[in-house]
Amino acid sequence: MVYEIVIGLEVHVQLLTRSKMFCRCSTDYASTPPNSHVCPVCLAMPGVLPVINEKAIEYTVMTALALNCTIPEYTKFDRKNYFYPDLMKGYQISQYDAPIGKRGWLTIDSNGSKKRVNITRVHLEEDTAKLLHRGDYSLIDVNRSGVPLMEVVSEPEISSPEEARDYLIRLHNILRYLGVSTANMEEGSFRCDANISIRPVASKEFLPKAEVKNMNSFKAIYQALKYEAGRQGKVLEEGGELVQETRGWIDETGTTVTQRTKEYAEDYRYFPEPDLPPLVLDRSWIEEIRASLPELPEARRDRFMTQYGLSLYDANILTGSRAMADYFEDCVKLAGPGKAKIVSNWLLGDFSRLLNATNTGIESARISPKHLADMLVLVDNGVMSGPTAKAVLEEMFQTGKGAGDIIREKKLSQISDASEIKEVVKQVMTDNAGAVADYASGKQQALMFLVGQVMKATRGRANPGVVRDIIMQELGGK
Ligand SMILES: [Zn+2]
Repeated sequence: MVYEIVIGLEVHVQLLTRSKMFCRCSTDYASTPPNSHVCPVCLAMPGVLPVINEKAIEYTVMTALALNCTIPEYTKFDRKNYFYPDLMKGYQISQYDAPIGKRGWLTIDSNGSKKRVNITRVHLEEDTAKLLHRGDYSLIDVNRSGVPLMEVVSEPEISSPEEARDYLIRLHNILRYLGVSTANMEEGSFRCDANISIRPVASKEFLPKAEVKNMNSFKAIYQALKYEAGRQGKVLEEGGELVQETRGWIDETGTTVTQRTKEYAEDYRYFPEPDLPPLVLDRSWIEEIRASLPELPEARRDRFMTQYGLSLYDANILTGSRAMADYFEDCVKLAGPGKAKIVSNWLLGDFSRLLNATNTGIESARISPKHLADMLVLVDNGVMSGPTAKAVLEEMFQTGKGAGDIIREKKLSQISDASEIKEVVKQVMTDNAGAVADYASGKQQALMFLVGQVMKATRGRANPGVVRDIIMQELGGK
């Protein structure tokens, strides 16, 4: 039997608001002591009332619009009832039948062609507290309780772990472009639960699905889905039966393990939140938000290809983050439109290598777009050679100094002065009489050897073209 994979993804995103969803506590708790960012509202003391965070609504609307969703005029919050120690109130304020965004989509590249993955809904809720399990007891940190949490739910239209990864990278990228979340996976600002099932090819029926949790990197999600598809296939092949369940990904073993069989939606006994008014989203406000959306990654990538003549591959990487794309455009603006390809080469080559080696984001790099543009001018004007520029870039990266200063300080400027080079050439020819004789007897490669020796003697600073010309002269113009 040949099976096909059916995947639907639920992504939880912490929004980058200053205060929590329903109280005034700061959301900036990442490096603070446990239970330091709490108040009677997020601790769920009796008698308190929630107040809606307007910025969180705005960020959710921005995301929904960027994902091509319809924004209904009417939206409301509901209580989702379940009992778990990380839930302070015994219920979570969420959205059930009237989410902020409905029926959107995003496109991914699937085997070289574009595929649209439909998005069911984008809704807003509150994050829970954090439990820290310590052997036979657990500790609770309420700092996270009440942080605005946006959920983006896709239709079960994703057909492979590769597509799932592509979808998540796209979504992640869009969120970062919008600036609505840090979307930092390690810190839990971007968390994915994946629903996966398999079925015989061409069957329209869904078999029981597994909801896989606990993955905190794109790689882990990919591996977990790959493993899970294989496991389900094996169960069916061996004549077993699949059950609907929640499974946890274990990074160390590369496997998923069953956690609990899935409760059904009715178990949550949703009902409208009586402490909050329904919201009517003003159409002119929605249009204002739509007009203020930044250019999104896909559109920007396509523009980079047409405007700067870049390849799809290069444009994809340059627009992989908004900071990188902004840096590129700032630099091209300074260096001139004809320099786009060269700027791209430096950014994707040596500059990226330095960023990766030091685990630095381009936004905190010490080389500014102006520094890079200035350096390119110096290369263009022949003040320094290509190999020298690589070394200078590294120095710029470490010190934050401009290329001009570094060249002056380290006396790295290219030597094009013929008389200066002639001195070195003469010395090299005296020291390498064998190579000179070889050249005289017709061995062309001896010339390259001599050029190499002069470059070495000048620590790469001599202009190689000038060196070659002078050696030819000295060898008798052959
Ligand atoms: Zn609070």
